[in-house]
Parts: sequence; structure tokens; C-alpha cells
Amino acid sequence: MKNTHSPHSVPINIRGLNQGDNPVALDFDAGVLDYPDFAGKGSVNGILRRDSDRLDFEAEVSAEGNFECTRCAEAFRDRISAPLSLHFLPPRLEPNDGDPNVHIYDPLSTSEIDILPDIRDALILAIPMRHLCRPDCKGLCPTCGKNLNREQHDCHEQSEPAGVWQALNRVKERLRAEENQPDDRPSSETYARHLKEN
Ligand SMILES: [Zn+2]
Ligand SMILES: [Zn+2]
Repeated sequence: MKNTHSPHSVPINIRGLNQGDNPVALDFDAGVLDYPDFAGKGSVNGILRRDSDRLDFEAEVSAEGNFECTRCAEAFRDRISAPLSLHFLPPRLEPNDGDPNVHIYDPLSTSEIDILPDIRDALILAIPMRHLCRPDCKGLCPTCGKNLNREQHDCHEQSEPAGVWQALNRVKERLRAEENQPDDRPSSETYARHLKEN
């Protein structure tokens, strides 16, 4: 079902529902989410369960968008999905517990309910904090700033100074030990010459 309503709503129809399960499948333009990252196709797929005037909606929502990798800062395209669980109740059944997933509606006058704000909240919360362009994104070189996913660089050693200095220190220690050896402990040759001379 294509959304032909206001450009800033994603309404689900609640007129003429059967008791029990009613499948819901609708597309929307992700631009209506009015959140800069989302653009492209959005969809809602789920079940609207009717029990007299009580309606329970369980769905999976998703939307495409343009995102920036948190590791390498490259732009990439992704599709964000989130579960949605909503309850539409007439005023007499209002639980008054502040549950944001509960919507109060008038069964006599309401033919559709806009779930755009719910979809928006669910999708924005579902954007990962560490959002990678690909699972094995190599990120940027801390030394030259090149994108290691697609660029060659030759500053591998500079990017690991600790390892380089450790190796240098080992060499220095070995040289010092070799230098000190003749003074501390005379070689067997020197000792033999000493014996002969005396
Ligand atoms: Zn990346
Ligand atoms: Zn580099």
C-alpha cells in the first residue's frame, strides 16, 4: 500500500479491521522522517491485532539513509531496521502509566492513526553508535591520515613508535655489553699471553 496522505505522516488504517490478526505492509519516503541521515525507501511490515477496540501493533520498520562511518569518516549507504510495538486503546482502557507506546484513540471517529513519530524514534535509536561502512573497516592511518581501506601508505613504522624504540634499545644494550666484555673479563687469549710473559 503506497502512502498517499500528507507528506509528513505514515498513517495506518484502522477501519474495517477483522478481529484477530490483520497484516500491515506499507512503504513511505524516508525523507518524511525529517532526520538528515534518512533518505530513500522506508517500509513498515507487521501485524495489527484487533481485540474489540483494543489494537496491538507489532512491526518491523526500516529506512535507507546516507551515513558517515565512525571509523574512516567515509559516506556510505545503509538500511536501518527496528522493531515497533504499539498499542491503540480507547480512553476507557487508558492505563495512564505514561507508556510512550500507548496511543489513545476514539474508536468512533478514527479511521487511521499516524505512526510517523513512533517510526522516527525507533529508527533514530537504532542507528549504531559505532556505525561502520563495513564490519572490517580499517579506518584512517593516525600518522598520514590516509583511508586504509583503499590507500597504500609507507608510514607503518612511524605509526608504531613503541615497537621501533624497543628494538633500538635491544640493539644498544647488546652493543654496550659487547664493548664492556674485554674490560670486565679478560678473554682467554689475553690470559694465556699474560701467563707466558710472566
Ligand atoms: Zn569505514
Ligand atoms: Zn600512514
